[in-house]
Amino acid sequence: MISADQALVKKMNKKLVLREIIHTSPVSRAKLSEVTGLNKTTVSSQVADLLDDNLIFEIGQGLSSGGRRPVMLVFNKNAGFTIGIDLGVDYLTIVLTDLEGTIVSESHQKIDSTLPCDLQKLMITLLEKQISVIPDSRYGLIGICLGVPGLVNNDQELTFTPNSNWSEIPFKQILEQTFQVPVFVENEANTGAYGEKEYGAAKHFKNIVYVSINAGIGTGVIQNNELLKGKNGLFGEMGHTVIDFNGPRCTCGNRGCWELYASEKALHQSLMSNNQTVMWQDILHRAKQNDPQVLQALDTFGFYLGIGLKNIINTFDPEVIILRNRIIEAFPQVLNSIRHTLVPNHTHAPDVNILLVSALKHNATALGAAAIMIKHFIDGVTA
Ligand SMILES: [Zn+2]
Repeated sequence: MISADQALVKKMNKKLVLREIIHTSPVSRAKLSEVTGLNKTTVSSQVADLLDDNLIFEIGQGLSSGGRRPVMLVFNKNAGFTIGIDLGVDYLTIVLTDLEGTIVSESHQKIDSTLPCDLQKLMITLLEKQISVIPDSRYGLIGICLGVPGLVNNDQELTFTPNSNWSEIPFKQILEQTFQVPVFVENEANTGAYGEKEYGAAKHFKNIVYVSINAGIGTGVIQNNELLKGKNGLFGEMGHTVIDFNGPRCTCGNRGCWELYASEKALHQSLMSNNQTVMWQDILHRAKQNDPQVLQALDTFGFYLGIGLKNIINTFDPEVIILRNRIIEAFPQVLNSIRHTLVPNHTHAPDVNILLVSALKHNATALGAAAIMIKHFIDGVTA
C-alpha cells in the first residue's frame, strides 16, 4: 500500500516529467532523468503512465552518446483541443487550439455591447461551429476559457465591466451547462499576460507586466511565473490608478484615472471634431502620411502612457512590459514618445529596452485564455 505522501510525490513527479516533455520534446528518458533529478526507474514508470494516458508518444530514435540509440518522447499536442475567447467591448474573437496553443480554427465577429441577450446566443452559435471542427482525439474539447475586459473575482464572476454590460451575464454557468466542459473566466489583461508568457514576447521572462490599451487600459502582472490576482481580482488594476485627483470623473467613481488620458478612447476623443467619431484605421492612415495633428495627438498619447508606465515600473519592477495596442503595433514610432517620458535625465532611469510590443497582437487574449485552460487540463490529468 502507498501512503498519501507517496501518492502526492508520484503525482508531482508525473507533472514534472510531463512539463519537461512539453517544454523540451523530443526528449529521451535518460535526459529526463538528468534534468528532473528523478531516478531512471521513476522516470520510466511516469513515462509509462503518460503513454497510457495518450499524453505523449514515442518517436524514432535520437542521437546516441555511445551505445544504443534512445527512443525519443514527444508531447501529444493533439490529445485534446481547447477554446480561448476574447470578449471585447465591441468584438468577439474565438480560437480553437491544440494543446500547444497552435490555432486550428478562429473566428472574429463585431458585436453590439448594448445587447447582452444577443451576445449569449451569438457566442453559443459561434462556439458550436468551432466545436464541430474539432478533430477526433482522446480528450476532445478539454474546456473553454474566456477573457473579458472587467473585474473578475476569485469565484470567476465578472463583477465590474466599465465599458460594457457584460457583467450581467453569468458566462461560467451558461457555457458549462451548454457544453458540459470546464469553463474559466479571467480578466482580459491577465489572459493576455499569460499568452505572451507562454507563446509570445515574454516567453523568456519570469516577471512581466502586460498592458492592453483599448477602450480602457488593462494590466496583467506575472511575478516569478505566477499570475497575480489579489483578494478581489483587483491586482495591478493600473488603468484606474489616479494620475490627476482634480481630473474628470471615471466610470469607476474616482477622478483622473490613467485610462482617461492614455486609453485608445482618450486618443480618439482628442482627435474628435464636430462630434464625429474617428476610426483607428483613419488615425493610422493619417499618422503614416505625417498629418501634424495626428502626430501631435500620438505624441501626447505616448506621453500619458509613459506617465502610467513609470508608476508600473516603480510598483512592480518588471523585467519586461508588453504593450498590446493595434495603433502602437502598426505605428511603433509612438514608442519613442513613451521612452522619452520614461527616461528623464536621472541615474535611476529604467532601461528603455524594458518595453516590448505584443507578439500575439489581436489574438493575445484568446490565445492566453487557451493557454490558461491547457494549464488547468495538465494540472487535472496529473492530479
Ligand atoms: Zn477609474
